[in-house]
Amino acid sequence: MKKKLLSLIVLLSLTTFTGCASNGTALNSQSSNKEETATEDVFAMDTYMTVTAYGKNCQKAVDAAIDEIHRIDDMLSIANDSSEIAKLNASGSAFLSEETAELMARSLEIGESTEGDFNIAVYPVENLWGFYSGEYQVPSDEDLSEAMSLINLSDISFNEETREITLEKPGMAVDLGGIAKGYTSKVIMDIFDSYGCSGIVSLGGNIQATGTKPDGSSWKIAVRNPLDENSILGYVDTEGTAVVTSGGYERYFESDGKKYHHIIDPATGYPAENGIISSSIVTKDGTLADALSTAVFIMGLDDASEYWRNHSDEFDMIIYTEDDSLYVTSGIADEFVSDYDINIIE
Ligand code: ADP
Ligand code: MG
Repeated sequence: MKKKLLSLIVLLSLTTFTGCASNGTALNSQSSNKEETATEDVFAMDTYMTVTAYGKNCQKAVDAAIDEIHRIDDMLSIANDSSEIAKLNASGSAFLSEETAELMARSLEIGESTEGDFNIAVYPVENLWGFYSGEYQVPSDEDLSEAMSLINLSDISFNEETREITLEKPGMAVDLGGIAKGYTSKVIMDIFDSYGCSGIVSLGGNIQATGTKPDGSSWKIAVRNPLDENSILGYVDTEGTAVVTSGGYERYFESDGKKYHHIIDPATGYPAENGIISSSIVTKDGTLADALSTAVFIMGLDDASEYWRNHSDEFDMIIYTEDDSLYVTSGIADEFVSDYDINIIE
């Protein structure tokens, strides 16, 4: 087993691999099959993305996917003043498009089911820490408690029928950044399917694949070792799923020798510190995977395991903890290949 994994890692560094992901990696052995391949890199949604499709119309599928990435980014980005979300944040209320309303409803629903761990209203706190401006600081207790009063999901009024949304307190703002990439990868899979292509996308830490590789074999989607970028925790052997990873090791700053990362625990207003180094969600529902990777990271191992037991038909997960242990839920125990002694969550 060790040998096999080592050679995979070598493969990762020597040959073409799709999806130069930040915290997940799509392994892609070269194919002898001469089927058409198209691949494009793009920087959007604040991250590097790679889109690859195989099949007769793959270039068209990739072009359409890139257009979609920009369209969704323009629709949701908080940094783009003309996006629906930026307008909502600026005025405190809005009538959303059907598509944004659907994603909003999903975000709020996941917020509720995770008891607020997935919180799209966390913006004022995230902003206070400087994660939007890059002017990082550990906030004062006073500033933090003021910002904390603005992040209650119950202060968002949303009517799914009229699609009217109101942020009830001045200073509130929402950010769909924790779910937008997952939604985008799902949309791209639908595009690939409609063009009859198989393919794989890597949108930052979000990987999603559909179909099989051109030679008919399954995808091997690796989960990076957060402590060593040249090695992996293992890989998921799959014919089409999303594997979305969250962790505190990519975007952080240091102050007085302590690291502060960008995933905010809405219960404390501080970067989540519940014993998890990285959390990966595995499911065909890319949107859910993205939101849950963040939420599970915040929950910590025990609460995440409990949450999974209540939703085990919806997703599986891979959790790497601070005591150097790796946990995998029973639904993917057979598909996850790793050198580690794996603890199976039942
Ligand atoms: P990661 O892959 O590390 O989870 P993402 O890019 O998916 O990172 O998500 C980062 C985004 O999530 C940021 O835009 C941030 O505003 C947002 N975010 C931070 N904490 C939370 C939270 N508790 N719930 C929802 N979104 C959050
Ligand atoms: Mg995410």
